[in-house]
Formats: sequence, structure tokens, C-alpha cells
Amino acid sequence: MQHHKNFIGGEWAAGTSDVPNINPSNMLDVIGHYDHADASQVERAIAAAAQAAPSWAVSNPQSRADALDRVGSEILARKEELGELLAREEGKTRPEGIGEVARAGAIFKFYAQECLRLRGDKLASVRPGIDVEVTREPVGVVGIIAPWNFPIAIPAWKIAPALAFGNSVVFKPAELVPASAWALAEIIGRAGLPSGVFNLVMGRGAVVGQALLDDPRVDAISFTGSTATGAKVAQAAIGRMAKVQIEMGGKNPLVVLDDADLDVAVHCALQGAFFSTGQRCTASSRLIVGKGIHSRFVAALTEKLAALRVDDALKAGTDIGPVVDQLQLDQDIDYIRIGREEGARLAVGGQLVKRDTPGFYLTPALFTDCSNEMRISREEIFGPVACVIPADSYEHALDLANDTPFGLSSGICTQSLKHATHYKRHAQAGMVMVNTPTAGVDYHVPFGGRKGSSYGSREQGSYAAEFFTTVKTSYCAA
Ligand code: NDP
Repeated sequence: MQHHKNFIGGEWAAGTSDVPNINPSNMLDVIGHYDHADASQVERAIAAAAQAAPSWAVSNPQSRADALDRVGSEILARKEELGELLAREEGKTRPEGIGEVARAGAIFKFYAQECLRLRGDKLASVRPGIDVEVTREPVGVVGIIAPWNFPIAIPAWKIAPALAFGNSVVFKPAELVPASAWALAEIIGRAGLPSGVFNLVMGRGAVVGQALLDDPRVDAISFTGSTATGAKVAQAAIGRMAKVQIEMGGKNPLVVLDDADLDVAVHCALQGAFFSTGQRCTASSRLIVGKGIHSRFVAALTEKLAALRVDDALKAGTDIGPVVDQLQLDQDIDYIRIGREEGARLAVGGQLVKRDTPGFYLTPALFTDCSNEMRISREEIFGPVACVIPADSYEHALDLANDTPFGLSSGICTQSLKHATHYKRHAQAGMVMVNTPTAGVDYHVPFGGRKGSSYGSREQGSYAAEFFTTVKTSYCAA
């Protein structure tokens, strides 16, 4: 079986240990062995990135554009193969895996163009005979720490803008999903970048991630993951004045008003809360439903949920793949117990099921009779579990939607222009969705949230320049 090494200073380097990557649809299936780096190897990767940074920072934007475009083209050309690999290691279905890979390819192509679109400003000075210019420069060495639930799209939306704007990169993927990260690194490694500009170091967060946080040569950290780890990352980065961008969890509301189109609302709930096994930061795990539509909505959603096929991620016809691993499954099951103990009613699902192969199969669970104070309504479960919270009116629904420590994505289903417009303005979230699921976003516009969901500037689109560049104001006497 192939051993997959780390990529340091333009060379493939063996790690200090190797770890099997297990398929969550079939625990007997070992996808490959992936080398873990130790702190000294991370140190080498950072040194390589630091050495490459000055000349890469002033490189011709066309050469950066060409390299990123090559990466994007290869990802798109191999989307079926890479999508299958992603589904096999993470557990989202094959079509979902292919969709995520296609998105990663599109992101690299978008940032290839952004290399040529970075703007500055030239202003009149308030003093005679002086020119003022505002320009953007790369930040330097960027440490990228990614979660497991989008094994290629999230690395892509961090690595592509970092490279586009002239930064060098040390990338640490999540331990659970090294295969997609390694495949991406292998493509980037052949794209014609100078040695050291891009480095891959696989391994544990406490070792590899921590080494990135601690090293003063890492100028900026872009992190996506849980709120608990995000808080630690923020403290470490701010403690040594590194630039930091943190994307964390969500407990995203989907409001269904009495006047909603029932089919649209059920589709939004089903897609937003349960697809990708509910393992999305944008999952609508709180369904806030008007009393006038409540019973019809619950009946229709329950029927759809009961008909979903939970099975091997690679099988044709599977709607919902397995949960990513035993730890996450235990967390999902624990919250289902907590929900019951809190007095919520389990309307459907929440059962462990057996399939042809040993995997982490859980049927999607819907709780009704929930209050917004219950733990299942307040804490991110990160599995196929959602709760229905009844609302008396639009105003009540909006209050419930905003009453959460998180603020990533917030949705509403309604046919009222007045309520849709008001909701877009007053939802306390970074992204608002009207009559479309809370999960599922475009790649060329900003992504991120408020409150406990995000810290720092936005990711994606041209807004990513805010994080991956630093502003310089120059004055010149004529
Ligand atoms: P974790 O916080 O467990 O891990 C995220 C990354 O941080 C992993 O690479 C992990 O490494 C690493 N890490 C862990 N400990 C440290 C440390 N001490 N120092 C530095 N790095 C460390 O999150 P998950 O991977 O479980 O991802 C799920 C979470 O991500 C959910 O909360 C989800 O909502 C959130 N998320 C947010 C998104 C957003 O844009 N807002 C998008 C997608 C997910 P290792 O894997 O080795 O432990």
C-alpha cells in the first residue's frame, strides 16, 4: 500500500510515523497510509516557506495566475476520481464529493484571475506636491489549518488566495482526511511553483497545528474548525501578534413562516439540515416553524426523512452517507439522548443501522416539541440531527433565530416580500438565505459569519484579499 509523504521545500519527505486512513462506510477498507510530521519537520516546512517568501512576494502575477489555473484545470479534469476519493474518506455521497471537488477547481480558477485584479488606490494629498498611494502586499508565510468536513474545498479556498496574493503556505489538513489534502498537494507540487512556496505537513493538531501557531516566522494563520479549538488558535495567534482568521461552528436557523411554499420549505430543511450527513457548519439544525404550518411541515419532512437511503457513500442511490468516525457518532448519539431527556420528541430517525459493510450509519433524526433553551437547540451537534422549534409570529421567529451564540448562516422560507426583506436586514448572521437552503454557497462571494461563528475578515471572493494582504500607504514628494 502506498505511503504518502509530506511535501517540504519542494521535496517529498517521510514523516516520523504513518497512520492508516479508514473509510467510514467500511472500516475494513484502508484508503492508504499517511505520514505524520513531527515538530522538527514542521519547523523545516516553515523555514522553507520563509525562505521562499521574499521572491514569491514580488513574483510576476501572470506566473502565479498560470500556476493556479493549471491546478484548477487538473482538479476539474479529475473531479470524478477525486470526488470518489473524498467520499471514500469523509463519507459524504459520491455526487456530493464530486460537487465539492468541482468547487475546489473553480476556486483555483477564480483566484488565478484574482492575481491580475489586485487593486490599489491613488489619492490626492491634503499637502501640496505630495502623491499618496495605497497598495496591498502579501502578508508573508501563512499557516493553514483545515477541518475534516470539506477535505478539499476548504483547503482550496484558503490556499488559492494565499498563493494568488503572493504568500507562501504551510498547510496542515485535518487528521481524519489526509487523502484529499495529499492529492491536492500533489497537484500543486507539479504546478510550477518555486520550492518552498507551498508545503504540506500532515499530523495531529496538538503537534503540527500547535507548531504553526507557535512559530514567529508564520505571519498569519487561517483556521477553520470547532469553536473550542478556534478559541485556542485565536489566543495563540494574538498572543504573538500574528494575523488570524477563524471560521468556527454554527447552529443555523431556518425559519418557515405560515405562508411558505411547503415543498420549498421541506426541500430547504431536508437539504440544509441533513445532506452531507448534517456535517456542515452551515447546516440548518434549528427549524423554527410557524404554528399555522407546523403540523403539515413536520408530517411532510418526517415522510421524506423516513424515505432517505442511509448507506455506503459510494453506492448509487445513497442519499446520506455515514457519520465520519466513531467519536462523531458517539457525540450524535449522546445529543439524541440529551434531546430525549430534555423533553423533546424524536419524530423520526436517530437509529444506528447496519449495512453490508461495517460503517458509522445513523438515520437522520428530527426532534419536535423543542424549545430554543434546550441544549440540542443551542449547541452544535454536527450530525444528521435537527430540532423543530414552534414560533407564534414572524417577530417571534426572528427573535428565536437570532437567539444563539452563533451567527453563520440564517434562512427563511416565506412568500412575503416584506418579511423576506426584513429578515435579510435583521438576521444576525454573515449569510442570509431566502427560500434556499442555509448550506450551499457560491465560491466567488464572501463566506463567513458573526458572533461565535467567525473571527477576523471574510474568506472567499475578492474579499479574501483583506486577510491575505497587508495595506501600505506611500507618500512621495514630487
Ligand atoms: P477541530 O477544531 O477539531 O479541528 C480543526 C483543525 O484544527 C484540525 O486540522 C485539527 O487537527 C486542528 N487542531 C486541533 N487542535 C489544535 C491545536 N491545539 N492547535 C492547532 N490546530 C489544532 O474541528 P473539526 O475538524 O472537528 O471540524 C468541525 C468543525 O469545523 C465544526 O465545528 C464546524 O462547524 C467547523 N466548520 C466551520 C466552517 C466555517 O467556515 N465556519 C466550515 C466547516 C467546518 P486534527 O484534525 O489533527 O485534530
